[in-house]
Amino acid sequence: MPDTLASKIAAGEVVQRPANAVKELVENALDAGAGSIELTVQRAGSELIQVADDGCGMGPEDARGCFGRHATSKLRAFEDLETLRTLGFRGEALASIAAVSRVELKTRRAQDEAGTCIRVHGGDIVESTPCAAPTGTTISVRDLFYNVPARRAFLRTPATEFKHIVETFQALALSHPTVAFCLVHDGTEVYRLPAAGGAEPLAQRVADLFGSRYEGTLVPVAEATSYLSIRGVVGAPEVARRSRGDQYVFANGRYVKSRSLEHAAARAFGALLPDGRYPFLALFLDVDPRHLDVNVHPTKTEVKFDDERGVYSFVGAVVKKGLSEAGLALDLAQTA
Ligand code: ADP
Ligand code: MG
Repeated sequence: MPDTLASKIAAGEVVQRPANAVKELVENALDAGAGSIELTVQRAGSELIQVADDGCGMGPEDARGCFGRHATSKLRAFEDLETLRTLGFRGEALASIAAVSRVELKTRRAQDEAGTCIRVHGGDIVESTPCAAPTGTTISVRDLFYNVPARRAFLRTPATEFKHIVETFQALALSHPTVAFCLVHDGTEVYRLPAAGGAEPLAQRVADLFGSRYEGTLVPVAEATSYLSIRGVVGAPEVARRSRGDQYVFANGRYVKSRSLEHAAARAFGALLPDGRYPFLALFLDVDPRHLDVNVHPTKTEVKFDDERGVYSFVGAVVKKGLSEAGLALDLAQTA
């Protein structure tokens, strides 16, 4: 099977909608150690998704190679998969995105005089030249799915697609409060989030992202065992929402979708939480990578801990303890 065909098929798994591409590109910027990430989107990502970072950049060879299937600089041997700390590792995101769009990459490492500019159309490199570029990487993805009409037709309204992009952006920005982020959509600045410093970067980032909605209501949680550490914040019950929207769980820095862990945290609120409400959560779980399987699905938002039940009950206990320390817990008789 030709490489570009394989990429086009794989693309369907990694990139189902513009928000998926946003996630992959921003994660690459984070893996590159960026201190500042600018996301520019046009027409909800179907016209343009651009991510500019000030991370480590790439040399000319890597810049040409990064669009190849399984071109990853993050996984050298299979054993690395067990100790993985980076967000990416499959080396298929760029190949997949490039297979179904027109990509321009501009990148330069600090030690290189010239940068490299690469253009890839539908997976084929059509231009590769030295160019002037700031240190870091800017990648522009245009006309997503232009060569996969079925996929393009499957896109929802721009409003819906943009909502997914914003949700993805919010999760990524929350996961790295000390990295500056901005989001510009159709020429309008939607977010400009400075790198949060100070004693409580997470609270700062929550305030910058959500305005006053959660101000003064954040309950810190923190606890660790030899297996697992949890830190973060939960919102007080009175700011719990009727939708699941603002529930963020991160496993080793990676945003994960886990109904089970969301449930564990909500359950810990017991009778404090009115029926049909979902608490604000920003919980960071850290485990030895050997205990976490992130290879469950190509989008990497589903993960498995080797002790799911243990993690579930620990999340509940940690949230309960945080609430009680904040003077918010009902006594056990009431929550039972
Ligand atoms: P993965 O992230 O799984 O390694 P990707 O397809 O997302 O695979 O990226 C391929 C490779 O391209 C990465 O391993 C990295 O070496 C390089 N790369 C991609 N984006 C960036 C970036 N923003 N800055 C520096 N290097 C990058
Ligand atoms: Mg990646």
